[in-house]
Amino acid sequence: MSAGAVIVGAGEAGVGAAFALRAAGYAGPVTLIGGEAELPYERPPLSKDVLGGGALKPIRAEADYAAAGITLLRGRTVRRVRREAREIAFEDGGGLGYDRLLLATGAAPRRLQVPGAEAGPVHTLRDAADAFALRAAIEPGMRVAIIGGGLIGLEVAAAARGRGAAVTVLEAGPRLLGRGVPAELAAILAVAHRSNGVRLCTSCSLAEIVWRDGVADLRSADGSGTLADLVVAAIGVAPRTELAAAAGLAVDNGIAVDAELRTSDAAILAAGDCCSFPHPLFGGRRLRLESWQNAQELGQLAALNLTGGRQAVSHVPWMWSDQYALGLQVAGLPAAGAATVARHHGGDRLTLFHLGADGRLVGASGLGPGNSVARDIAIARRLIGARAAPDAAYLADPSASLKALLSLLPAAAG
Ligand SMILES: Cc1cc2nc3c(=O)[nH]c(=O)nc-3n(C[C@H](O)[C@H](O)[C@H](O)COP(=O)(O)OP(=O)(O)OC[C@H]3O[C@@H](n4cnc5c(N)ncnc54)[C@H](O)[C@@H]3O)c2cc1C
Repeated sequence: MSAGAVIVGAGEAGVGAAFALRAAGYAGPVTLIGGEAELPYERPPLSKDVLGGGALKPIRAEADYAAAGITLLRGRTVRRVRREAREIAFEDGGGLGYDRLLLATGAAPRRLQVPGAEAGPVHTLRDAADAFALRAAIEPGMRVAIIGGGLIGLEVAAAARGRGAAVTVLEAGPRLLGRGVPAELAAILAVAHRSNGVRLCTSCSLAEIVWRDGVADLRSADGSGTLADLVVAAIGVAPRTELAAAAGLAVDNGIAVDAELRTSDAAILAAGDCCSFPHPLFGGRRLRLESWQNAQELGQLAALNLTGGRQAVSHVPWMWSDQYALGLQVAGLPAAGAATVARHHGGDRLTLFHLGADGRLVGASGLGPGNSVARDIAIARRLIGARAAPDAAYLADPSASLKALLSLLPAAAG
């Protein structure tokens, strides 16, 4: 009997790949191995509903795994990949052979590297245990300091305000959301945070933490200080490449895969936050994305290519964030744009279109109440995927139908 398909990492990419293998007709054994004890769950709610008191949201019901003939091993960590023998070894002993292997190991929070960071409790937020610990620790009136004004830091800030804490965000860069979110939208979010009572300190580079009687004195490089009862480090994540690196696979800002998600060993693929891949839509530029949709898309694609497919990555990147009553969405690669066109809808809603030097749409981003920008961004995704070069004045006019632009696309693209 075939040794079957083994997937290391039971997150969004790994779970999606396991079910997609079955959907693609793969009949061999499928084993999905996850280091966490919980039934695989969605990560985005951790910094939203779960911090607010809600329950974990499973990616699939427990019964689905057995029904699909997927062996789910929870709370098991893979320590090594032995490529010559085509087997993986578990940390707690034993091993498992594979015909095809998918690494979907995700990412881990970066740790603060300043003096004093190890001398007291510093929370991070990546998994369910982190979310439950943080939720239990935040009390009304407590001073919470969040290091990092990125998406996770700001979602935690909003949730901590919701729990009645006094919140300060310390961001080393000159503005919030310096990575991947245009300045115009970050500025609107900054206003929302301030008006909800969050103290924002940009260009505040943390230099040291001094702990006294359980209180953290966060000293910034400019000499200013912030006192906090609870500290959260939200300074980004690093791809989990340790297994791949130890197995001698190429690593380049993540496990390096080609456009079909193959590592430097053709029997091993990688998907999700852990890997970097060349994206044909952006001139083959190597990307490593940290978003729910990317993990889903790559998981599906990996399953196809594990079963003999030869398809290249083609999805238009997309992510969202919810903070207070505002919904942010980003599609494509705004940073690849040479010019930005704003479509002002009035009220709190703004959509930005990012055009490449050749006039093609390479990104779109929007912010507005609830889900109000979803439609614009969904249309923009299709335009980006079709390499459309829409007229800038048309994009800027809120009375001009975006949907009408889709009808101008070649039939296969629209
Ligand atoms: C708090 C939070 C909020 C987010 N909110 C949003 C959002 O609003 N919108 C958005 O688009 N994206 C959001 N994201 C990002 C999105 O959730 C991730 O990009 C996505 O979950 C990545 O999926 P993945 O399968 O690649 O990795 P993961 O979900 O990290 O799964 C990897 C799994 O592999 C396991 N693993 C690693 N190494 C081993 C090993 N050696 N042996 C066994 N198991 C192993 C890990 O324990 C983990 O369970 C958020 C992420 C977080 C943490």
